[in-house]
Amino acid sequence: MSENNLFNASSIFGENVFNDKVMKERLPKKTYAKLKETIREGKDLDLETADVVAHEMKEWAIEKGATHFTHWFQPLTGVTAEKHDSFISAPTSTGETLMCFSGKELIKGEPDASSFPSGGLRATFEARGYTTWDCSSPAFVRIDESGGTLLIPTAFSAYTGEALDQKTPLLRSMEALDKEAVRLLHLLGYNDVNHVAPSVGVEQEYFIIDRDKFKERKDLVYTGRTLFGAMPPKGQEMDDHYFGTIQEKIAVFMKDVDKELWKLGVPAKTEHNEVAPAQHELAPIFEEANIAVDHNQIMMETLRKVANRHGLQCLLHEKPFAGVNGSGKHNNWSLVTDTGINLLDPGDTPHNNIRFLLFLCCVIAAVDNHADLLRESAADVGNDHRLGGSEAPPAVISIFLGEQLGDVMDQLVSTGTATHSIPGKKVKTGVRALPDFTKDATDRNRTSPFAFTGNKFEFRMVGSEDSVGEPNVVLNTIMAEAICDACDYIEKADDVEVAVHDYIKELAMKHQRIIFNGNGYSKEWAEEAERRGLPNIVSMFEAIPALTADKNVATFEKFKVFTKGELESRADIEYEQYAKKINIEARTMIDMVEKQFIPAAIKYEKHVADSINAIKNASGLSCDTQINILKKVDAKISEMAEALSTLSELIKDAKFDNNKDFAEHFYKKVVPAMNALRKPVDELEMLVAKEDWPMPSYGDLLFEV
Ligand code: ADP
Ligand code: MG
Repeated sequence: MSENNLFNASSIFGENVFNDKVMKERLPKKTYAKLKETIREGKDLDLETADVVAHEMKEWAIEKGATHFTHWFQPLTGVTAEKHDSFISAPTSTGETLMCFSGKELIKGEPDASSFPSGGLRATFEARGYTTWDCSSPAFVRIDESGGTLLIPTAFSAYTGEALDQKTPLLRSMEALDKEAVRLLHLLGYNDVNHVAPSVGVEQEYFIIDRDKFKERKDLVYTGRTLFGAMPPKGQEMDDHYFGTIQEKIAVFMKDVDKELWKLGVPAKTEHNEVAPAQHELAPIFEEANIAVDHNQIMMETLRKVANRHGLQCLLHEKPFAGVNGSGKHNNWSLVTDTGINLLDPGDTPHNNIRFLLFLCCVIAAVDNHADLLRESAADVGNDHRLGGSEAPPAVISIFLGEQLGDVMDQLVSTGTATHSIPGKKVKTGVRALPDFTKDATDRNRTSPFAFTGNKFEFRMVGSEDSVGEPNVVLNTIMAEAICDACDYIEKADDVEVAVHDYIKELAMKHQRIIFNGNGYSKEWAEEAERRGLPNIVSMFEAIPALTADKNVATFEKFKVFTKGELESRADIEYEQYAKKINIEARTMIDMVEKQFIPAAIKYEKHVADSINAIKNASGLSCDTQINILKKVDAKISEMAEALSTLSELIKDAKFDNNKDFAEHFYKKVVPAMNALRKPVDELEMLVAKEDWPMPSYGDLLFEV
């Protein structure tokens, strides 16, 4: 056994994090108190306090082995960004240097922002952007082969204040939700509540394959997914991978991932094999939304990095293999007060839990009012291959409530009052030695994009590679609006109790169409959803306009989460990224066909032709079968050449006045041409001898890890 994997988990947890315990120990009492005020109340941090914090943070980081620091931020590229500075100061006259880090450097950074997407928000002559310390997410030291670096979580904005990242709107949305939820709780008599924050737990799916094989595939290297590949004889049809025993090599890797994550204070908790071969899942314990979003980024980075150390490659793409289940993320979301109440906890008898029913109906109203926006928040290029594909949620947003809550809602809709809750049932195993147990009253429905699971909602549409920043911004904001509407209604009433009751009934009636407890994968549901008037948005290209729809702009502006300009810029960035990513995929396909598949087919033809000649010379036999093979291969080469030239024409000099038209060209013309090119190549793979095929097959990648 590797010594490396024998360690005491609790002693390493958070060892590289400048967390509350470290701050309490190291900061002077006054400084600690001031910093806590900033973290809790959002009070401004004066420079004098910041200097003291920075000094202590630096001393601590150097003890951990750090030589550099960086503001760590999440621009709209989908990955995190960092710019490293060392702690050294200008050498003194005696040639010595001191390790320096000031409050100013801690609080504010000025990366050259011109190379990050801004969607036209930042004119080129004003390239400045600022990163600002988010003291609510703790700084940490990352240690790897390159040494130690202090990472400071920051928000990233333009010189003029517009958000250029995931974190700024997330923090804004949490503030809006906090304010409205506290307002409602005070109306309901919970005057001791001062804060409400969303809790988030993100289940992350990924694939692990052999790194040497990965490197032999240009499509995986350049685009993260296979652009070609015939199905292996065996897929996932035996269901023998899901929850199967984890292979030792993979288990060693997972242990190592846990260890790295725990050191960084990321509470990695559950691992299992997923449905597809070579697919796995990692889930952490839930945390406050802002930290959970940061931690999901750290988790993705760590999975990639540790995999490489083990000679493995982690694929986070939503659909690395056509015809095999893809990967998503489940964003588990609930609302918790600073007095410890989970506002989405139904208790044993939800029908008479008025506080719960009111918050539940607010979620239902929010999701129904802004289904298009929620769908958009899960749109990314890779996810277009998944949603609606009978493996992932359909592209229609609906809410699953389960038997018990579904019944309570039915009572509300039909009689205006809920009088009883279906109790949890006993499950009898029929074996005396096994205990009977009580079944959860909220059962599971894997096909729902937005499911109530016990005491939280699970948004299951998000793509595996995407940041969960945007989905949480949307959830928080639309919920802030629904709660605000509830407050406005109740504040006007003479009798709070009657008003709350009436309002719950009103929302239940008005928004019942969004609730669906059946099979979301079925064809009938798509038809039924259309009858109900629910949007069915099948692609990223068609999802983007939701960002700038009037009703959505109004909501974001009302709660000061985004300005109209920021939303327009985000839509523009998404169109541009869509076009650019598909362009890279198309160019990679062309490259592979020209440099690898056509030569391979010709080489194989030569092998067959040589053998025909040899057989004829030796025996004079007719070789009809071999000639037939040659004909088939030749036909596929012609098909391939034709599809290749169509695709090449389409992407040659593709220039458009605006990013929307640019994206539309790729969505409507280039993607179909890519599919047309893939087909003859995959068929050719089935014809050509294994030793003449220039790269590992699906079977090699999925079953030989
Ligand atoms: P499953 O989805 O299989 O039921 P769990 O219920 O254990 O799995 O949780 C899945 C994820 O949801 C985990 O990341 C967990 O931390 C998170 N989670 C659990 N309870 C909550 C909650 N109240 N709020 C937000 N996330 C939660
Ligand atoms: Mg789940």
